[in-house]
Amino acid sequence: MSATERRFHPEKQLSEQSFYLWRAIQAAIWLVGAAIMICLVFFPNLGLTLFWNILIPIAPALFVLFTGVWRNICPLATTNLMPRHFGLSERKKLTAVQLGKLNLLAIVMLYTIVPLRHAVFNNNGIATASLIMAMVVLGMIMGFYYEWKSAWCSGLCPVHPVEKLYGGNTMFTVPNAHCSECQNCVVPCPDSTPNIHPISTKRTLYHQLSGLLIVGGLPGFIWGWFHVPDEQLFNWNNILGVYQLPLLGFIVSSIIYIIASMMVSTKNEQKLVSVFAAAGVSCYYYYRLPALFGFGDFHTDGLLINLSNSLPTWFVPTIQVLTTGFFFYWMVIRKQQHRSWVLRPPFAAK
Ligand code: SF4
Repeated sequence: MSATERRFHPEKQLSEQSFYLWRAIQAAIWLVGAAIMICLVFFPNLGLTLFWNILIPIAPALFVLFTGVWRNICPLATTNLMPRHFGLSERKKLTAVQLGKLNLLAIVMLYTIVPLRHAVFNNNGIATASLIMAMVVLGMIMGFYYEWKSAWCSGLCPVHPVEKLYGGNTMFTVPNAHCSECQNCVVPCPDSTPNIHPISTKRTLYHQLSGLLIVGGLPGFIWGWFHVPDEQLFNWNNILGVYQLPLLGFIVSSIIYIIASMMVSTKNEQKLVSVFAAAGVSCYYYYRLPALFGFGDFHTDGLLINLSNSLPTWFVPTIQVLTTGFFFYWMVIRKQQHRSWVLRPPFAAK
């Protein structure tokens, strides 16, 4: 069977029409990403607004509700999977230990990079563009060597641990618009495993440590992050300051998680993960939405449009209650839907 025949094989979830539709969406989103990169370099104020105050605030909700859609259209994924799509990848497989190490490194990168937003990235277009470009280059190099999403999208990408934490009860499953056949390159595959979460696999010590650091640490880390103001100018002397409160929050919520996980049965482990996931995303929007509309604690930090003089005083508490209530309902109270982010394509013939 030729590659083309396999691609449109009736058993496959991606029909011919759907294949071209996803390619068109991927191309459009990739162009949006490229436009943001150009703005970051040549029109930094616009680029910073588009990236940090529009795209990034949408991302957590996207991970909760439409994880598979994001996994199909992420422009970074589209770029670093190009070597595989064009047959230029060596298609090596990673061992469980290597994958565990990459997952752990991804979390270390996440917790290292995010506080630096206050020190440099939030106010510097070139720095933000350089950060994104570094990830593109790294992801693409990995794409030349390793099979499908194993090394970057499900390995070293610092956004992936957050997808895995928030995407445990997604709204619907979409076809896999990248992998033409499943090569079983990641076990368990985060894209194809229903209700995946960060402690779904305890295959190695690295996986276990990764699960603890992201589930336990993220809610407190987010709380701490929102209590640090942006530096207007980069100063090496202030670099440690941007880590203190996120680290404190990280430690406190990790301790709470460790104690709670010792008290719950294995059967309820996933529920506990959902509670911490909902706490993380709710905390994010609790602070982020007011800041977007001019009600933030630090004046212009994270401001999209200043509506503080035109919106009533009940606006802020109302959106905070609504978003927190929604995420706890969606992620904790609502029945687990047994859905994966995307449908697994047929396994490749051995
Ligand atoms: S669907 Fe299969 S080939 Fe694609 S990332 Fe998952 S395990 Fe790898």
